[in-house]
Amino acid sequence: MVVRMKVLILGSGVIGVTSAYYLAQAGHEVTVIDRQPGPGLETSFANAGEISPGYASPWAGPGIPVKAIKWLLMQDGPLVLRPKLDPRMWIWGAQLLGNCTERAYAVNKGRMVRLAEYSRDCLIELRKATGIAYDERTQGTLQLFRYHKQLDGAQGDIDVLKQYGVPYEVLDPAGCVAAEPGLATAAVEFVGGLRLPNDETGDCSMFTEKLAALCTGLGVTFKFETSITGIVGEGDRITGVDTSRGTMTADAYVVALGSYSPLLLRGLGISLPIYPIKGYSLTVPITDAAVAPVSTVMDETYKVATTRLGDRIRVGGTAEIAGYDNTLHPSRRGPLDRSLRDLFPHAGDAGKATFWCGLRPMTPDGTPVLGRTETFGNLYLNTGHGTLGWTMAAGSGRVLADLVSGRAAEIDTSDLGLSRYR
Ligand SMILES: Cc1cc2nc3c(=O)[nH]c(=O)nc-3n(C[C@H](O)[C@H](O)[C@H](O)COP(=O)(O)OP(=O)(O)OC[C@H]3O[C@@H](n4cnc5c(N)ncnc54)[C@H](O)[C@@H]3O)c2cc1C
Repeated sequence: MVVRMKVLILGSGVIGVTSAYYLAQAGHEVTVIDRQPGPGLETSFANAGEISPGYASPWAGPGIPVKAIKWLLMQDGPLVLRPKLDPRMWIWGAQLLGNCTERAYAVNKGRMVRLAEYSRDCLIELRKATGIAYDERTQGTLQLFRYHKQLDGAQGDIDVLKQYGVPYEVLDPAGCVAAEPGLATAAVEFVGGLRLPNDETGDCSMFTEKLAALCTGLGVTFKFETSITGIVGEGDRITGVDTSRGTMTADAYVVALGSYSPLLLRGLGISLPIYPIKGYSLTVPITDAAVAPVSTVMDETYKVATTRLGDRIRVGGTAEIAGYDNTLHPSRRGPLDRSLRDLFPHAGDAGKATFWCGLRPMTPDGTPVLGRTETFGNLYLNTGHGTLGWTMAAGSGRVLADLVSGRAAEIDTSDLGLSRYR
């Protein structure tokens, strides 16, 4: 039997809210604190909408250092570096490079696939249990190749998909059009694609908001417009959280602060290797649904993902290493506009698009940090989900709730916690 505890969750992004849902389901008394006026208003707000266990893989991999140089030199390339005199930026970069070996890639990929596949299953269950709707679709995702070299290069990924038993289809141009009829109107040529039929799509912000409402119905309390200024530890316990509205206490504490998690944990002497990597998105109203994407199309050339979300198209991409800087650089809109214009030129009204950016909480090995800390027995981490926080949210929330409740999680979690960096 689970002992009912008071649990304080720091952060109401998609990770904090899914944690709240599963903790409330497990019978705990849950409070969520966030500085924003509502749930999911920072990085979870306008991501690319892919729920893609099939593409769950770390950025760090063999060949990435060379590719990164090429991307940095490319006009409108997917990677931007704005160097800062911030040692954390360079330490994190060195840690990422250290993970670019074949061995590290295989280990990291295995962890990510395990959590992402579990998460998709949890999301399906959650959807059935609650009836939650978030402009979701279950029509797979398509990685689109403009060049034969890219198609040939996909063999490595296909080998990995085979290894993990992830269903896939290699498509010729006609097959791509059959999967995504809007590509018949593309303004550029493409040579083929890799389709992952089990992937899903959906609006992360809509999901987070609706799940938060369901949580309220389950008795969860949300304290918005409340800034966390410190976490207080005494001996091996956390004794409270200092906020702009006073100190709050609980039996257990969950850090789900996205990119800001390491800043708050530093005061406790905990070093968390998470660094913010900025991404951008456009949300475009659909003007002709017949030629719009039906699901996600990943334009491999520019690493831009275009996703159908109800009557809108979400176009997301760019990895900008610039520290804690939320500047919306207009120059980064170009690659998103161009990818949409190239692939679905008549689908939407780009003139009415909303341009947005957010900070992905990235670990150097791609896997989030999930589990109890060794230093404080009542402090749990659910953070560092990087490029795939939406994909991994439900599974991470479920695992977290099991661990807080003292139950064994349904997947192996021994290598998901902070101790793996020791
Ligand atoms: C352009 C882009 C595209 C992406 N596309 C995808 C995709 O297609 N699929 C996918 O799976 N993932 C995608 N992601 C990644 C995904 O969006 C993130 O991994 C996920 O949103 C992280 O959620 P989170 O809850 O950890 O962080 P956040 O959503 O940032 O939540 C953290 C919360 O903590 C709060 N907070 C922080 N500091 C404080 C403080 N001091 N006091 C009080 N509150 C505080 C913030 O207000 C925030 O609400 C994308 C990200 C970007 C930027």
